[in-house]
Amino acid sequence: MIKLIIFDLDNTLFDTYNQLSKPVLGDMFQRMRAAGMTPEQEKALRERYAYTGFKILADQLGLNPDVVMVGMEAYEFMDMRHIKPYDDAKLLLELPGEKILVTSGIPKVQQEKVDLLGIRDYFEEVIIDDSSSPKNKEIIFERLMKEKSLKPGEVVVVGDNPDSELIGAKNLGIVSVQILRHEGMREGNYDHKIKGLAELKGIIARY
Ligand SMILES: [Mg+2]
Repeated sequence: MIKLIIFDLDNTLFDTYNQLSKPVLGDMFQRMRAAGMTPEQEKALRERYAYTGFKILADQLGLNPDVVMVGMEAYEFMDMRHIKPYDDAKLLLELPGEKILVTSGIPKVQQEKVDLLGIRDYFEEVIIDDSSSPKNKEIIFERLMKEKSLKPGEVVVVGDNPDSELIGAKNLGIVSVQILRHEGMREGNYDHKIKGLAELKGIIARY
């Protein structure tokens, strides 16, 4: 039986890529180029920004501190007032068990997103991981299981990112559900793949 469902936020519960990333990218990249971002770094950023947070990418691509500062500023001060959750996000309220949101990024920005989206009450707990290491989610999941005395088979992780929450879940033997909101997302070998949250209730009932 599933007792805990852990959700990712960006590109899982709202369309971060189309609502936030795309509109700020042009201006942000222009300023980052001026601060010394190389064409190779820009290419990699454009390819991976759809599903990986800026802090994590900055670290992986070895962006120089000036470029990171310019990028972080653009990100930290972007206007987010228009963001809306995916229509199916409200289905979380119908799911059994405890729900926890685990999201990576700048704590102030992630907390503001949760409030603007109006989804805070969907969760027993909201955890922001600001470590800039995608692997850190695994450590958080492990800690949550220990705290709540849960076995991996009693926990589900729902997210989009193969390099972060999904690999973490898989390494721990947690039930992994990849949500494919956008075309061209890299698909991995997870327990389940879904297009939207309507499919989740049926999956959970099977355990
Ligand atoms: Mg995500």
